[in-house]
Amino acid sequence: MDLSTLRHSTSHVMAQAVKQLWPGAKLGIGPSIEDGFYYDFDKPEPFEPEDLAIIEDKMRDIIKANHKFERQEMKKEEALKLFTKMGETYKAGLIKEIPEEKVTIYKSGDFVDLCRGPHIESTGKVRAFKLLSIAGAYWHGIETNPMLQRIYGTAFETEEELANYLLLIEEAKKRDHRVLGKQLEYFSFNEEVGPGLVLYHPKGAMLRYLIEDYIRKQHLKRGYELVVGPHIMKSDIWIQSGHYEYYKENMYIFKIEGQEYAIKPMNCPGHILVYKSKTRSYRDLPIRYFELGTVYRNEKSGVLHGLLRVRGFTQDDAHIFCLRTQVEEEIIRVIDFVIDTLNVFGFDDFAVEISTRPVKSIGNDEDWDAAHHALSNALKKKYIRYSVNEGEGAFYGPKIDIKLRDALKREWQCATIQCDFALPERFDLKYIGEDGKEYRPIMLHRVILGSVERFTGALIEHFGGALPLWLSPTQVAIIPVSEKVMSYAKKVERMLVESGIRASLDSRNERLQKKIRDAEVEKIPYMVVVGEKEAAEQSLSIRSKAQGEMGRLMTDEFIQMLQKEVKEKVK
Ligand SMILES: [Zn+2]
Ligand SMILES: [Zn+2]
Repeated sequence: MDLSTLRHSTSHVMAQAVKQLWPGAKLGIGPSIEDGFYYDFDKPEPFEPEDLAIIEDKMRDIIKANHKFERQEMKKEEALKLFTKMGETYKAGLIKEIPEEKVTIYKSGDFVDLCRGPHIESTGKVRAFKLLSIAGAYWHGIETNPMLQRIYGTAFETEEELANYLLLIEEAKKRDHRVLGKQLEYFSFNEEVGPGLVLYHPKGAMLRYLIEDYIRKQHLKRGYELVVGPHIMKSDIWIQSGHYEYYKENMYIFKIEGQEYAIKPMNCPGHILVYKSKTRSYRDLPIRYFELGTVYRNEKSGVLHGLLRVRGFTQDDAHIFCLRTQVEEEIIRVIDFVIDTLNVFGFDDFAVEISTRPVKSIGNDEDWDAAHHALSNALKKKYIRYSVNEGEGAFYGPKIDIKLRDALKREWQCATIQCDFALPERFDLKYIGEDGKEYRPIMLHRVILGSVERFTGALIEHFGGALPLWLSPTQVAIIPVSEKVMSYAKKVERMLVESGIRASLDSRNERLQKKIRDAEVEKIPYMVVVGEKEAAEQSLSIRSKAQGEMGRLMTDEFIQMLQKEVKEKVK
């Protein structure tokens, strides 16, 4: 059985149940989606969470009745009359938008729906389903249209598959980086600041520093040079780059002393202008410029989501200017960089996609073919499997997208390697070839982590907030048993901090159990408990989050142990 047909058919059953319970509710649309289905309703009173169980009960009756899904073709005018008579104004609106002369409707019992199908044979074939949530949704997704109520649900062929899926979404809820980010005091959003703009608190800022520090050093090891561009540039630059024409609605534009400027939505122009600052020879190439570049994009407030979709974020962005003959080698180097990085951060699974030439695009066939071959050959040489998104590339060149898979097998967009035929033309980029003539370099845009914000969100959810030692903002909680050993506890803290270990002393006047419990909630990798015995022998009682009680160690032994653990991870 096709899962999307099953799910869509289940959405009919749900709509039928809703209509039986609330005959005045009007129908919107009810498609199957990636993990289930939804149906939109226009109903004056809001659905309450407890309504879901009531609807489910009614659905079970409909499933039991085993109504056949009957397909019927109908003239458009006839269908329009039928749905208008039923008061289904949204359906009537949809019929008017259909260009064909005939439409199809599906009947199951007393329920009639405008629908292309296909459907399962009868309602009795629905076995395992669950209604999940209620949300608001504008008709056709347009903000000036009425707000409908959307009920999400899912369906599977077996109860077991459904149970596994429900377990997964429960686990995903627990790992939600928005929840953990708040609980662990990593970051917050503030209405006074504006939506989609992240405030990093000390622990979140430390995590970000650790990620950025690692990735910056890696770039230097791999032959990149650091550059830094300004956050605002005159609009003329964005006109030349094409952003003004193609990307303006996403940009923040303003005037200073009569001159128009824009906040950068991308880092490319800055790097290009550094390249252009002097004459380049073929001997200088490849040139690889890297910047942890913060960009601002005016995303619609409706799509903002925690750290995943924000209005201000930082990319680990680089631009590679190279010869045609160097493209494949450069792409291989980037792929190696991505795989090594994902491994270090604890991700061992990813999915790769190549997006090819769209209908509307610039550049000649020869360039597109060459770029496509360079991308696919690089993947083949690394024995990496990939899927192809035909026609999904940018208008200015093909690209590779790499999505990491987290512990729950969910995909997160991270790295992109993008060939660009447009910007070298627009900015008239050149190098002097071996024959003394001028040529255009090839330009690659690439990110490894992608958005540092999104990557941070992925890390938090992948580890459920329990970050590995090298990434933990606080690595060690020092817990003194009593006030009497406070001076020893302070000495331990000083020794750890001086050795580069992120330790924090819990000097609160709280019970020992409470302090231990709080360090656990904070998901700190190591706790050291110090009492009079430890103070007398200058030792520590170690408790590891991963391994439990580890007995007593001398302070310098403990320091060496932590340093070794970090070194093994981060080479
Ligand atoms: Zn249908
Ligand atoms: Zn770029």
